[in-house]
Amino acid sequence: MIISEDLAKSLLAGYGLPVPPGEAALTPEAAAAIAGKLGGQAFVVKALIPAGGRGKAGGVRVCASVGAVTEAAEALLGRDLLGHRVERILVEKAMPIAREIYAGVVANTATDRVDLVVSFAGGMEIEQAAQSDSQAVWQLGVEPGDVLPVHWVRGWLRQTKVQGVNADALAQVLVTLYRAAADLDAMLLEINPLAVLADGTLALLDCKLEIDDNGLARQPQLAEIYRQSLTPREQRARELGVSYVPLEGDIGVITSGAGLGMCTLDLLKQRGLVAANFLDTGGGISEALVKGALELILEPPQVRGSIINLYGGINRMLEASRGILAALQTIPRNRPLVVKILGNQQEEAWAMLESVPNVHVVRVVQTEVAVSKLAELVR
Ligand code: GDP
Ligand code: MN
Repeated sequence: MIISEDLAKSLLAGYGLPVPPGEAALTPEAAAAIAGKLGGQAFVVKALIPAGGRGKAGGVRVCASVGAVTEAAEALLGRDLLGHRVERILVEKAMPIAREIYAGVVANTATDRVDLVVSFAGGMEIEQAAQSDSQAVWQLGVEPGDVLPVHWVRGWLRQTKVQGVNADALAQVLVTLYRAAADLDAMLLEINPLAVLADGTLALLDCKLEIDDNGLARQPQLAEIYRQSLTPREQRARELGVSYVPLEGDIGVITSGAGLGMCTLDLLKQRGLVAANFLDTGGGISEALVKGALELILEPPQVRGSIINLYGGINRMLEASRGILAALQTIPRNRPLVVKILGNQQEEAWAMLESVPNVHVVRVVQTEVAVSKLAELVR
């Protein structure tokens, strides 16, 4: 789960980290009111979208008056930026930047350690700097769960021979970021830029925080925000114990397993069909689960045909076919549904579905055949 910049910053402010004062807004009027309350001459208006590179794409505007904040808000709100619709913006007091540093805490899945990462070539060009200069990025691996003493980090920073940065303050910020990342089950906590201001103090101007969804049970506050961020359909899927992924097209897709799902989506694409959604049943197929899953994927009005691609190992396919029948009792059956069921109890399942109107049972192992059948039916 990606935590929005405003929430991430308020969580970090709770650790005493220096975050610029600011607030999120949904309208230009609210943005102007926030700027008026912040006071001063200079503001930054930022598109709150889960993407990096907003600065280069025009999603971060430095404004010299409250009027300019209104204009920036009008320009950003409702716009499509880096593949996301801008629905909220962040209005902050602008900070006088003397220098930009990169600071990150990264769960390194290759080493099972937590990497503290610092670069003094921070700012928007960090990726290029890292590629052209191997000395540009400094990395310190820490055993998860270890206490990270400030003096240790200070010693590490000394090796970088950085000049003109208050090493004590930077070490303190890094240690606090490390602690926050551990508390929040962060996969990634990235501050870019961590600005050195004109007076030498530090400020966290940007924050990318991605947390491990598996830790949500330990984060009641974030779990509630996560739940609210889901669409009603995604919430119902969660209650069923599956995940529902909305997509751009008009074909409903259910598979037993994510790999089979990816394969099915690719084969659909080869046939010129695009999925409207994708639902993975996982390994616990029951009649109720398949019924709920089929109701969900058939619900969007643009869905003009669907495919169910299941493999029964431990899963009993009679449960699946009963679920399909039960769902079709409540949904109009005017759109084609191709069912490819294999494995445990396949014959019984086929027999049950064979004579159902608009249901087409495919009895071979190749998903290509099922997809071709569907392509033919929806044409
Ligand atoms: P990103 O491009 O999506 O990573 O968005 P950032 O929040 O990092 O903003 C991009 C750039 O905008 C930063 O590298 C800064 O140079 C600039 N910026 C962000 N906040 C401020 C600020 O408070 N004052 C000034 N002068 N520039 C800022
Ligand atoms: Mn940034």
